Amino acid sequence: MPPPIVVQVVVDKPLPQGFDYLWDKEVLGGLPEIGVIVEVPFGRSALIGMVIKVSAHSDYELDKLKLVSRVAPLPPLDASVLRLMNFASQYYIHALGETIIPTIPQMWKKADNWEKIPKKIVANEEKKKIKNTPVSREGLIDEAQLNECQKNALETLHSCSKSKFKAILLQGQTGSGKTAVFLNWLSGVLQDPGAQVLLLVPEINLTPQLERRVRAYFPDKKMVVLHSGVSEKVRGLAWHDAMTGAAQIILGTRLAALTPLPNLRAIVVDEEHDASYKQQDGIRYSARDLAIWRAHDLKIPILLASATPSLETWVAAKAGRYEHIRLDQRAQGASLPKVHLINTRDPQSQFSPGDAESPKTKSLITKTLVHAVSRNLESRQQSLVLINRRGYAPVLSCGACSWLSKCQQCSSYMVVHKAGALGRKSTMSCHHCGLVKTIPSHCPDCGNADLKTLGQGTQKVEDFIEMTWPNARVLRVDTDSSRKSKDAEELFQEIHEGNVDIVVGTQMIAKGHDYQNIGLVAVLDADSRLFSQDFRAAERLFAQLVQVAGRAGRSNKEGEAGGVIYIETQFPEAAVYQYLLRHDVDGFLSFTANERKEAGLPPFTYQALVHAEAKNLDKATQFLNLLKDHLKSHNHISRSLRVYDPVPKAVMRVAGSERAQLLVESDDRKFLQEALEEIDRYLREQSQGRISKVGRIRWLIERDPILI
Ligand code: ADP
Ligand code: ZN
Ligand code: ZN
Repeated sequence: MPPPIVVQVVVDKPLPQGFDYLWDKEVLGGLPEIGVIVEVPFGRSALIGMVIKVSAHSDYELDKLKLVSRVAPLPPLDASVLRLMNFASQYYIHALGETIIPTIPQMWKKADNWEKIPKKIVANEEKKKIKNTPVSREGLIDEAQLNECQKNALETLHSCSKSKFKAILLQGQTGSGKTAVFLNWLSGVLQDPGAQVLLLVPEINLTPQLERRVRAYFPDKKMVVLHSGVSEKVRGLAWHDAMTGAAQIILGTRLAALTPLPNLRAIVVDEEHDASYKQQDGIRYSARDLAIWRAHDLKIPILLASATPSLETWVAAKAGRYEHIRLDQRAQGASLPKVHLINTRDPQSQFSPGDAESPKTKSLITKTLVHAVSRNLESRQQSLVLINRRGYAPVLSCGACSWLSKCQQCSSYMVVHKAGALGRKSTMSCHHCGLVKTIPSHCPDCGNADLKTLGQGTQKVEDFIEMTWPNARVLRVDTDSSRKSKDAEELFQEIHEGNVDIVVGTQMIAKGHDYQNIGLVAVLDADSRLFSQDFRAAERLFAQLVQVAGRAGRSNKEGEAGGVIYIETQFPEAAVYQYLLRHDVDGFLSFTANERKEAGLPPFTYQALVHAEAKNLDKATQFLNLLKDHLKSHNHISRSLRVYDPVPKAVMRVAGSERAQLLVESDDRKFLQEALEEIDRYLREQSQGRISKVGRIRWLIERDPILI
């Protein structure tokens, strides 16, 4: 009898251990390898899993073990991506199987299709050959065309060893030519024919534009695009090209950070400060942080680019842990936009009642801004109006009693949405649980027919703008106007082609886009994000304002004014606005770093949250209190590990569940790691998966949360 072949397989379940199976090499057509994807019987069904160990023994009785049923037609995941997955699993306190399996595209998780897939790949290759039309070289700035500042940056990058870990912060104002620099750098890396590079971007809306640009640089390299907006089939094939090494350029959003890349030589994280790099459900990882770990593990360089670096990255660069490269002028010569703060408390900024030019209805924007937009229209430049709330108005209210459009299921209000295209009626919807209702004709409490909206969203502002400037072409861009990334791409194209005079939108319009003719940017209601219990609110607001300001005057020539940005605020003296006024990114970051240091907040401490969700808040809080008691009684709480009292979440009630959180904090990652492992062990003991057996409380541990 030859010795048995036993493999340990992990599956997508919150279970810390793998399971032993027998491997029949006759049936499966070969020997097992670590990293192969398999189908295994599990309970009464079958599951997809991955082999993590091969041996000749099992702690279980061999004749009780089941057999691996099928093997995927894929090479095994390479050793380096398995190290990454192991790290992510430990660091984010998530089981290995539920870390790995969700990163595999659906196409490779349907075992019934496995036999057909190789044919599909061949067919795809054939199609690509036919489709291979020449790409335009438009937008390509080659090495010789770089300005002095960019050349220096590129030289520093070229001097980085290709086989050593180095994190580099490339900091430069919007439009300073960062993209041109890193694409030229990657071009050097890709001279090695087998090399792969990973280019991460925060939003799928930004990929089409960058995709065209990257193609112009690398017409003869194979590039794949990975994000949640591409179809399952395309994504499955792209992932395959990436994991076999066939693709050299992998462009994608956070999910691409976990792609197996056997020949990875360099990583770029564009807009590294962006919150979309953080996954907010399942395993709550930071794609940027994992990318840095991956570069470190592989001993390769990683470049983090931003006009407004995250405090974490900036502090690391200042401390010399990261290389710090700067680009300090706009590539095309124009100066930065001039910032105007409009104090909305100043009566002079507002229309007075007798004002001849006062709009017919109550003006939603200040007189100062109305004048500025009119001037900008006259000079035939586009205006961009940012308001960070979609819909018509954030709440509906009754003038006769105190009724407000509260969501039945959440502790939030239902947002009024005006009738849209496709015969859709006006509705109210909850942005937390998705509940949609028709607008009541009368107050449900007192019967009054005079219901009013409070506050304003993109739709209301759009209406106001159309009324104020009836001849202007107005376009609204938010997730309601563009459900799919393709729609968004079309909207952005309209702006690029100059078919629009005034754009109204949410933060979707603020990021990355290289618009050429924006003369004016206006920000409404900025203060709403200034006062928040979240200590990162000001940092996020500042980054967003710099980003949106950066959309103005991008193509203006040397010496020309670089457009204007108007910010309506009641608190012009707030630090965020004052630093913005001076375009002083470093000043703001240094100020914020001091504040955080004094308050003992990240990046000077490390944090984790334990989330608990129950039928009612008391249950959730009690659950977390018991956890805290446990930690106390086992001496886990000390000067090096602080555990706060449980608190309700900012939006406490969502879809009928009530939510609380417990903050755990330490100055030392090691202590935090130990505490989290203990918390995980303790909670698991009383749970099935991540739901407690008593009281059915759903819990989750989140490392390095970015929303507190
Ligand atoms: P960033 O990534 O910093 O926002 P980009 O690389 O997108 O900057 O450059 C901004 C604009 O300036 C783009 O339209 C780009 O084509 C152009 N540009 C970049 N570098 C140069 C250069 N050296 N000469 C002329 N135009 C440039
Ligand atoms: Zn009423
Ligand atoms: Zn709701």
